Amino acid sequence: MSYIQGMSFVIHGIGVSSGIAIGHAQLMAHAAFEVPHYDIEKNQLDAEVARFDSAMHGTRTELQELIDKVPAGAPPEFSAFLQLHLMILNDPTLAEEPRGLIRNERCNAEWALKQQMDTLVAEFEAIEDTYLRERRADVEQVVERVLKGLLGHNHATPRSAQGESILIAHDLSPADVVHFKQERFEAFLTDVGGVTSHTAILARSLNVPAVVSLRHARELIHDRDLLIVDGELGAVIVNPDREVLAEYRLRASELQIERRKLARLRTSPAKTFDGTPIELHANIELPGDIEQVQASGATGIGLFRSEFLFLDRNGLPSEDEQFVAYRQVAEDMRGAPVVIRTLDLGADKQLTGLTQQGDNPALGLRAIRLCLAEPQLFRTQLRAILRAARFGDIRLLIPMLSGVAEMRQTFAAIDEAKASLRRDGFPFRDDILIGGMVEVPATAIMLKPFLDALDFVSVGTNDLIQYTLAIDRTDGSVSHMYDPLHPAILQLISGVLKAGARAGKPVAVCGEMAGELRLTRLLLGLGLREFSMHPANVPAVKQRVLQTDLREAEALARRILNTTEPDRAAALLERLNA
Ligand code: PEP
Ligand code: MG
Repeated sequence: MSYIQGMSFVIHGIGVSSGIAIGHAQLMAHAAFEVPHYDIEKNQLDAEVARFDSAMHGTRTELQELIDKVPAGAPPEFSAFLQLHLMILNDPTLAEEPRGLIRNERCNAEWALKQQMDTLVAEFEAIEDTYLRERRADVEQVVERVLKGLLGHNHATPRSAQGESILIAHDLSPADVVHFKQERFEAFLTDVGGVTSHTAILARSLNVPAVVSLRHARELIHDRDLLIVDGELGAVIVNPDREVLAEYRLRASELQIERRKLARLRTSPAKTFDGTPIELHANIELPGDIEQVQASGATGIGLFRSEFLFLDRNGLPSEDEQFVAYRQVAEDMRGAPVVIRTLDLGADKQLTGLTQQGDNPALGLRAIRLCLAEPQLFRTQLRAILRAARFGDIRLLIPMLSGVAEMRQTFAAIDEAKASLRRDGFPFRDDILIGGMVEVPATAIMLKPFLDALDFVSVGTNDLIQYTLAIDRTDGSVSHMYDPLHPAILQLISGVLKAGARAGKPVAVCGEMAGELRLTRLLLGLGLREFSMHPANVPAVKQRVLQTDLREAEALARRILNTTEPDRAAALLERLNA
């Protein structure tokens, strides 16, 4: 996994956003946690101490697991580091003192732990011995782990980028990445994460290289180390020597030239070599992404992941606030289609107080299930979208539909939102188009009743792959099995496209597959005419579309569809892309 070359070494992970970045390491600040402080009722003190104990226990298990999994080639200090962290964690100053603080000050566990950390850090600072003084960082790292357990994933407030910085975190929540939209990091590295986790998707949306699942980057890299991140290879070169650095600088400038060339295609219409028009739309997370969409040449928004308006903030956005955001996107897109997906919270997008982690959040109360269980939340959003739809070509998209009854319930909720707007005298768009996402295998297999009732469908391949192949999209340890070319996936996509054509209803693909260059021709050959992807991918995909002969693509796609042999499929795909 990693090897030392004198001072310089390389760590490998999974590249989730390509490109090359050169900059200095900035470890996600340990003490920068914004720790909430609140009072605990007397009769809740036992429960709060138990919550603290359970977070400590969780961290202990996590560290022990890391120790057990130290790879053979890792530097010997690495094991020692983890052992030291375990020792610090088990020391009564951390394991016991905060329990007393919770009871005496009647405060929450996070606050008690932070108080204790501050006390310990102050003591370390007074120590003359440099080695011991440096152990302060270890205390902070240990406390950070426990705080993460206590706070869930949403609460780490990372600091800002300083100079040409590369951010390194154990993990980033989607909310963290939203926070970074305002920052300027050159690249993102995380120890955990899968290839289509929302964190990875967002890193791509920031348009900087990102590597996830590095496993031990946080332990191996120090603040201010010089790094080269190769997002294509999923490699991080720590403290590179001069030749390697020069080589990568050259490669980075070549990439920039290639990008500029592609940008010239911005205004050319997307059509295949033989003249079939293809829609290339963009996926966005926030209204501010529109600038990038316009620069990309995308002709519409195929997926607005509206839940990102709800992350990285205090409280829920009101109907008016949402209305303004949706209207802005519609107006900025000047009459081009804008598909707004209703809230897809849950799974890896947690919102404190609303979503439940559960044992299996991807299979739990997520997306439309959560919205139907929280009618007030859903109504507020639907009203905002219906009102904004008067200002452009806004369409509704319902995530994660899995049954016909659920779809009917959703229609009832939309009708009810319309009736309430009528009652309150708000103008809105009555004939808004309603689409559904095909991301649960059941829906893909039994699409007809959905197509009969809906105006269009959009295939969410990220979840469709996750649910069909039973592979957690956020889990780096099974990322290698996340295979868009799996025959079952291709059969499902082909079936959905055929069913859509039979029903005369448009079918789009808005999962990451739509932006993967090696799959463009295959999807065209299977019959896809509407792609929605991250805007950064639009120019290259457009170039590929322009160079595609549809008949040839169809013939090869049929052959790929008919094979269950992975090597054969790979060889055919290579031919298709030649
Ligand atoms: C998908 O599942 O493919 C999709 C587009 O939705 P998300 O990635 O937001 O779950
Ligand atoms: Mg999805």
